[in-house]
Amino acid sequence: MQKKTVAFSKASANLFFHILTQCNLSCSHCYINPDQHGSQTLSIDTIRRWLGMFAQKASKTNLIFLGGEPTLHKDLSVAVKEARRLQYNSITIDTNGFLFHNILDRLTPDDVDFISFSLDGATSATNDAIRGRGSYDAVISGLGRAREKGFACSMIYTVSDKNLHELSRMPDLVASLDIERFFIQVIGMRGKSAGAKKAGQVSKDLWLSVIPQVAKTIAETGVIVTYPKVFLDLDEPFECAGIVADNYFVFPNGRVYRCPLCEDFPLHSFTIENHTLVPAPPVNETHLFGLTIAEGCVMNKIIQPGNLDYLADGTLSHKIACCMLKQEIRS
Ligand code: SF4
Ligand code: SF4
Repeated sequence: MQKKTVAFSKASANLFFHILTQCNLSCSHCYINPDQHGSQTLSIDTIRRWLGMFAQKASKTNLIFLGGEPTLHKDLSVAVKEARRLQYNSITIDTNGFLFHNILDRLTPDDVDFISFSLDGATSATNDAIRGRGSYDAVISGLGRAREKGFACSMIYTVSDKNLHELSRMPDLVASLDIERFFIQVIGMRGKSAGAKKAGQVSKDLWLSVIPQVAKTIAETGVIVTYPKVFLDLDEPFECAGIVADNYFVFPNGRVYRCPLCEDFPLHSFTIENHTLVPAPPVNETHLFGLTIAEGCVMNKIIQPGNLDYLADGTLSHKIACCMLKQEIRS
């Protein structure tokens, strides 16, 4: 069993491309915020031009198509093929499972590296309470159809206090699904989660008592498991991906962020204007990345300080890692 922290690197880049914000679901923890991200659907011409804008480093860039629900875009298959033509290093579609516009018939397994399905419970009762009625069945059926056609598939499970209890049931389900990768995410207090307070993050003790063991159990079946580190011991080094990595979160209103925790605010680093990446004026997220605080991530302390803990004498019990810092475990 190999376990490693996935180091940040500027040698490769990740492009998280939200091609629309429209969605058929209304998940209680959705981070899409139309006030900040817009409500437009990018035309295929604009998608092509924006893909071209980031294509200088395409061979070192992992591209993830997102929404909203990206399969609601009628030209997603064209966009994927264009990304392949531009030789992006890897191409992933993140989906809620409904797979609109016959996307599985319009792409081949050679066009896309992964189709990644979001499921937030081992049962339909728990998953559908978070993601909406019918969403569990859509994922199980969509994933089955994708596997039948030979697409490589992965799964994302976003952990909150509403579904942590079912994570230990996921190894059996995962074993039946024939997926290659399993991603555990931590719910962020942004988008709907920030306002409605419908779900919360879990404590350090709970996280550490469940996540690493479940990850190990799933990895023993041959699936590669990735989960966020979240908590750092006080003597562990802290790094901000905004400084030491190369991530771009692109939204259809032209905002480009380097940090997902900033996405609820007009703090984006760039704006796309006339198909060109233009640095945003001060103050923006880049001015936060260099701030050094004992608690680790500055944005975490601003938007979700509930995951910090102080001892009776006021000193910190742990730091919070960059939300992009991951642990990877494989057999
Ligand atoms: S499927 Fe994704 S985009 Fe749609 S509501 Fe759920 S979290 Fe939001
Ligand atoms: S989550 Fe925190 S540490 Fe990571 S990029 Fe954002 S501000 Fe930096």
